[in-house]
Amino acid sequence: MTSILVIDDEYGVRSGICQILQLEGYTVEVAATGREALDLLDKQAFDIALIDYQLPDVDGLTLLATMRSRKLATMTCMITAYANIDTAIAATRQGIDFFLPKPFSPDDLLGVIETLSRHKQLKEEAEKLRKENEASLLALATEKSQTSSLVASLRDAVLVINREREVVLANHAMSALLGREPKDLLRAPVDDVLSAAPLSGLADLLSAQGDEERKLAELTIGDRIFFASVVAFHGEQGMALGRILTLADVTDMRRMAMEKPRFIRTMVHEFRSPLGAIRSLIEVATEKSLGADLAPYLPFLERADHRIDKMVELIGELLSLSRIDLERTANAADPPAEISAAVAATLDLYQEKLAARKIAARVDIPQGLPRVRISDDDLKTILSNLVGNALKYGRDDGTLQLRASHRDDRLVIEVADSGIGIRAENLPQLFHEFFREKRAETRDIDGNGLGLAIVKRLVERVGGKVEVESTVGVGSIFRVSLCTV
Ligand code: ADP
Repeated sequence: MTSILVIDDEYGVRSGICQILQLEGYTVEVAATGREALDLLDKQAFDIALIDYQLPDVDGLTLLATMRSRKLATMTCMITAYANIDTAIAATRQGIDFFLPKPFSPDDLLGVIETLSRHKQLKEEAEKLRKENEASLLALATEKSQTSSLVASLRDAVLVINREREVVLANHAMSALLGREPKDLLRAPVDDVLSAAPLSGLADLLSAQGDEERKLAELTIGDRIFFASVVAFHGEQGMALGRILTLADVTDMRRMAMEKPRFIRTMVHEFRSPLGAIRSLIEVATEKSLGADLAPYLPFLERADHRIDKMVELIGELLSLSRIDLERTANAADPPAEISAAVAATLDLYQEKLAARKIAARVDIPQGLPRVRISDDDLKTILSNLVGNALKYGRDDGTLQLRASHRDDRLVIEVADSGIGIRAENLPQLFHEFFREKRAETRDIDGNGLGLAIVKRLVERVGGKVEVESTVGVGSIFRVSLCTV
């Protein structure tokens, strides 16, 4: 139902207009002054306002200006007996929609109201369309920026070409791989971009014809291995629009696949050699090589027993490794660990061995250090492996130092010994499973080469880092940095 506000100071005019309009079914309110009109406009929305040019308080033009400043959607029509070109221009400037010179007939009035109603309706529809359009443009822009940030942040390198074989999209990973800025790649002919070896193979892959949707290849760039795949993409009518090339870095996967047989071979060896030794030791007894008396066999059986202990230890460490691999991420519910307590517990464990080797343990851990994001058990395992090694590969009368300091959001823990040290060329393999330095000094030291691999995995799965500094004959420092809470 169209609502109309009639603003006129002449009672006869406003009540006459009111009657005509009400008879036609319009909802009508009347105001005798500009202020009354503004009060009514404040309270309710009107579709149309009929405004007398001359009002006792504010004039019609001021009223129009106020309505405009309030951004009212009301259609306006000036009713005036003094219509001249100047008034018309001034009113038009204030956004008047129609003029109706007085006197006017009821038909004139109804004709104007009908026109204004229609205009209002059209205006509303146009506004609705504009808003819808704006919303869908916004949605489109959001979607576009979401898609491009998604592609940009992909770990895989992505390159999209059009039918003219020009690059239309290359994400960060791809531009880094190609050593070019993303903006320099845009619109560049792909055959130029991929002209040098080993990338030229990719240009061939991108041109390979055939029905199959997906083409795959493997290539090596520097020291990384990539899995390349090309997919054609089509428009709505099935027309080919271009091709997408993705390069996935599979170096670690490949390495792991290659490591597995090596790991199994070493593991078999680690079990077979002590088992062979145990068998020979037992055979001395079963073949009664030393006579009927039991006593001479006891040292052999004790040695066999010791080797069995070592095998049980090895099984325990292998199980720890596979447990860490299976869990992958640490349990977030574990309460953070406290370094002083973990160090004290570890030193307690090695007290006797330290005393026996006359190794002086020095602890330098300031009070009030923050806790670290790792479980107490895992921190103790790390410390126990590092302190155990410092002892094993340390020197009698030497030193063992345990230090901790707070740097930014990290706690740095150092385990330093004054032992045999590690050869520089062996440092890169030090944390690999089963790696042991083969040196005269290590020949008689027991071990299976799994301790440091366990340390590395426990540290890395909580986002930490482990490093080593070492000088042969001087000693080693193992440095573990963990996130603080
Ligand atoms: P394990 O001690 O059982 O052999 P680890 O994984 O703990 O196994 O250590 C791997 C190798 O690293 C050791 O065999 C040893 O050669 C070297 N290593 C580890 N810690 C030290 C250390 N503190 N000083 C000298 N060499 C070390």
